[in-house]
This record gives sequence, structure tokens and C-alpha cells, in this order.
Amino acid sequence: MIVETENHRETIDLGLKIGRLLRGGEVIELIGDVGAGKTTFVRGLAVGLGVNDNVQSPSFTISQVYEARDGLTLYHYDFYRLDDAGIMVDEISESIDDSKSVVVVEWADTVTEVLPADRIVINIKALSDNARQFHISGIEEGI
Ligand code: ADP
Ligand code: MG
Repeated sequence: MIVETENHRETIDLGLKIGRLLRGGEVIELIGDVGAGKTTFVRGLAVGLGVNDNVQSPSFTISQVYEARDGLTLYHYDFYRLDDAGIMVDEISESIDDSKSVVVVEWADTVTEVLPADRIVINIKALSDNARQFHISGIEEGI
């Protein structure tokens, strides 16, 4: 499925719609250059998951964890600064095994071997300063 957004607000709305569909046990890989809108998308996803906290980029902390609706937990990882995921591989594996988790990963290259094959993959391309194209695979329902 391909979706285009014209500004950051529309990207938040797209994340929100997808966040509402999640039931736990999903893994989402976000692919795109710096500034593509990966973290912005997660901000909307968090709203759709009923997260009350503001989503902070995990660029420096590697992971951020949020309590979500229905007893779910949102795990947000960013492996941009890591050449070797090291013990983070164990941490992300544990969060993936938790059926009450939603796991979102930016810059997943160093951990792809532990991501499930049936993950949702979202590829984001900047078309201009404010337009973005989202290629979404692994979601059956229309959004
Ligand atoms: P990433 O996590 O991919 O590095 P961010 O979400 O942190 O990207 O940053 C995206 C930047 O691009 C933000 O400054 C945001 O305001 C801007 N932007 C402009 N248009 C869009 C859009 N359509 N969708 C998402 N972000 C956009
Ligand atoms: Mg980011």
C-alpha cells in the first residue's frame, strides 16, 4: 500500500490510524533517511495506541518504552548510532516475544536477524520539503 502525506500533521494522522489497528504482538520496521519522518510517524502511532506521554526520539537513548492502552507496551528503538547492537539484541528479542508489546524500530540493520519475517515494513521517502511517500507492507486491512 502507498500513502502520501503533505505535511507532518498528516504523517501523525497516518500513524494514529495504524496505531488504532494494533492489537499487540506487532513489529514495525521504519526505513528512511534522517528527517524522513520516522519518529514523527511514531508520535502518531503512540496516540493511536493511547500513549499519554510525548514520544521522544530514541536517537541518544537507543530505546524508549511507553505504557499504552489495553495493557500494551510500546517499545521504540533507534539503532542509528550503533555499529554493533550487542546486548540490545537480547533486549529487543525479549520485547518481540512479549505478545502485549508493539515494537517499532528505526535503523534496524544491525538487528534484522532477530526481527520476525511477518513484520510490518514502512519505507518513507521525502518527495519535497513537506511531502512524504509511505510504502507500507504487512498490513492487511485498508487504512
Ligand atoms: P526521522 O525520525 O526519520 O529522522 P523525524 O520524524 O525526526 O525524522 O523528522 C522529520 C522532519 O521532517 C520533522 O522536522 C518534520 O516536521 C518534517 N516534515 C516535513 N514534512 C513532513 C511530513 N510530511 N511527514 C513527516 N515529517 C515531515
Ligand atoms: Mg528518528
